[in-house]
Amino acid sequence: MLYSIKLKLTIWVLFIFSIIFTTLGFFLHYELSEIVIGSIDTHLHNEVQFIAGFLRVEDENIEVELSGVEVGEYAIPLSGHYYQIVLSDGRIIAKSPSLSIAGASLPVIKSDSVPSYQTIMGPEKKPLRLMAQSFKLSTDTVTIQAAESLENSYRILRSFGNIMLIIFPSIFILTGIGIFVITGWSLRAINTFSRKIEQITEMNLNERIEDKGMDRELQSLTVSFNTMMRRLEKSFSKQSRFLSDASHELKTPTSVIKSYCDVTLGRERTPAEYQETIRIIEKMANEMSDIINRILEVSRLEDKTFSLKFSNVDLMDIMKNVMRMLEPFALSRGIKINLSCQEININGDRERLIEVFTNILDNAIKYNKSNGRVDIEAGSREGWAVISVADTGIGISEAERERIFDRFYRVDASRSVVAGSGLGLSIVRAIVNAHDGRVEVESKIGEGSRFQVFLPLLPVRTKA
Ligand code: ADP
Repeated sequence: MLYSIKLKLTIWVLFIFSIIFTTLGFFLHYELSEIVIGSIDTHLHNEVQFIAGFLRVEDENIEVELSGVEVGEYAIPLSGHYYQIVLSDGRIIAKSPSLSIAGASLPVIKSDSVPSYQTIMGPEKKPLRLMAQSFKLSTDTVTIQAAESLENSYRILRSFGNIMLIIFPSIFILTGIGIFVITGWSLRAINTFSRKIEQITEMNLNERIEDKGMDRELQSLTVSFNTMMRRLEKSFSKQSRFLSDASHELKTPTSVIKSYCDVTLGRERTPAEYQETIRIIEKMANEMSDIINRILEVSRLEDKTFSLKFSNVDLMDIMKNVMRMLEPFALSRGIKINLSCQEININGDRERLIEVFTNILDNAIKYNKSNGRVDIEAGSREGWAVISVADTGIGISEAERERIFDRFYRVDASRSVVAGSGLGLSIVRAIVNAHDGRVEVESKIGEGSRFQVFLPLLPVRTKA
């Protein structure tokens, strides 16, 4: 349950809320009591000054003319409003009728000329606010004490506390419910996501989540999800195309083998006929083995765990090697190969790079005109080793130029010219990419093509 976003958010907000409101409650209560008690203190101070105005010294005696203050609350017994006047020896010379009628008095509190305030228990056993201040007269020092019940003030503070105790928990509960409901409501789109995800199989990878009307925060999640689905769909269809293309490529030699076997075994044959059939079967088997090897090569290259064996290699040496291997094939077609190369050292996988340039040069011969030419140049440019292989062949249209790097892709015109698997250039691109390089093609239909391989001159990072 605690793993719910809804609950965590609610608990967190309520925690913050309770800290803020408890602090605020205490602060307001403190401020209110300061105001209430402060106003009582002001009132008591005024009363004491007022009573002090009635003090007289006559014939060495202190007299008080109190008829002016023996009215109102002071006249009602134990009303909670009291005063008394005390001499320095502790004798009470006057007190309010509210005290004297009830035969009560206030505790005598020593004071000086600065007013002092305190809260005491009154004669009616209820809290009183008491102020005492001394006045120096010619014969003696007189202390005037005035007191007022704190009952009303305490009632106000209690009411305030009760209101707080009702309002705050109510707000607390309502906020909690509100946040719980709102977060649940906002997160409902996530349920839509999980339902959609549950329904996804390889059959409906084209499904997308509608982002219209979705909360802005969830829109980016929807976009990412849809992008991921698009990628999955693409890679899935690439995989199944790969499978069907591979089967298709293997189908032709298999059918040839089968039909030759059927025809040859249909009746008794001469040894020469059997030999001819076996030669054709051998040719087809070689073709199939070549296709299978290339398929395995492509899969290996796409496997994230494949690794290159990096070392310092000389591209001129590699190109000479490749040329030597393919020269007999070129001669058989009357094609001349020109190599113009300087020594270029790079960090690369020698065997894989031989594979790259064998594929490119093989294509330059295969798709060339009889008695054509292939020019190989190797040099360096702006931090790159650049190897260019230009032929005088059939050329590649602009529309096909990117697609020739796709697995099994073959330009229709080439199919009639020469046999092939359509895997060579996809292997080339995978290997060059793994070297952090790139392949570029320029071509003109009927005039020829130029393949340029760019490999970094500086040491590339070693692949694990
Ligand atoms: P393959 O040569 O086995 O068909 P590749 O992947 O090497 O496969 O090449 C893919 C396609 O690109 C070829 O079928 C051909 O149509 C085209 N192609 C490659 N190199 C050349 C070239 N030098 N001239 C013309 N077309 C080419």
